[in-house]
Amino acid sequence: MKNILIIHTGGTISMLENKNTGEVTTTNRHPLKDLSNQLELPAQIDEIIPFSVPSPQITPQHMLQLAKKINELADDYDGFVVTHGTDTLEETAYFLDLVVETNKPVIITGAMRSTNEIGSDALYNLISSLRTTASDQAWNKGVLVVMNDEIHTARNVTKTSTSNVATFQSPQYGPIGIVTKDSIIFHHTILSRVTYSINETTKNVFLLKAYAGMNGQILEAIHALKPDGIVIEGLGQGNLPIDTVSSLQQIIDENIPVILVSRCYQGIVQPTYGYDGGGKDLKDMGVIFANGLTGPKARLKLLITLETTTNHDALKETFEKSY
Ligand code: ASP
Repeated sequence: MKNILIIHTGGTISMLENKNTGEVTTTNRHPLKDLSNQLELPAQIDEIIPFSVPSPQITPQHMLQLAKKINELADDYDGFVVTHGTDTLEETAYFLDLVVETNKPVIITGAMRSTNEIGSDALYNLISSLRTTASDQAWNKGVLVVMNDEIHTARNVTKTSTSNVATFQSPQYGPIGIVTKDSIIFHHTILSRVTYSINETTKNVFLLKAYAGMNGQILEAIHALKPDGIVIEGLGQGNLPIDTVSSLQQIIDENIPVILVSRCYQGIVQPTYGYDGGGKDLKDMGVIFANGLTGPKARLKLLITLETTTNHDALKETFEKSY
């Protein structure tokens, strides 16, 4: 029988609805803790609660704490399930994907409706995640997100709806597997995975989104804060308004890495346009193009990689070539 560790971290999956006020809040006792061993599951389960916070309060320090815990216990278990709030679930999933070194299953799940709400997906998603973790096919796939009968890669998954239980989607490539009543079926796999060994997250990396009429003001304000790096969700294939260019140049001239992703939710950024602020122009200035990541994920990747190198070419290689 497999040994699985559940790591509870908070979020709606750990909350209950107050039937008088309708408010969904944290409880003294996790409503799902100790339930798993009463269910007929193909695994022996241990559970820990290193911290319990709504996921808007999750920081990279929490993520690193989780990654270290999984790395430390990787030999003791056959797989790990992390329960987490859904708001920042995709960020923790991707952080773990970059920092956890095991090839055993590491699954993150959450819930859109707390345990005592009608139609709750809390226990269901937990059971689906445990079943997926117990599957031999879940090995060597990096960190996975299991919600609503679907299995997604940490790299591609994103929360798409504020309240629908089908919120987690991989808009670019779809899920890599499904959970059915009887089986766990993978129909895709990952091609490669790169991990980074880090001990701390000390860098100050900002994320901003481009918009029509944007000028250099926000870039100058961020520049004054002496950032270690900046990620910009650019327009379309990777373009910025012309009035941002000179402020951006000053940042790049100081060797502060600027990573460009797109604010579109599909496609990758490419240096197509040669006008001022166009992708080709930005690339020639030294802006680094990220290979299909969302802004929040590119930010985490920069936060992590900056702990290992500040060399421009190494960062460029990392963002352009690896996932
Ligand atoms: N606001 C909640 C959280 O992320 C939402 C959820 O868990 O579904 O903690």
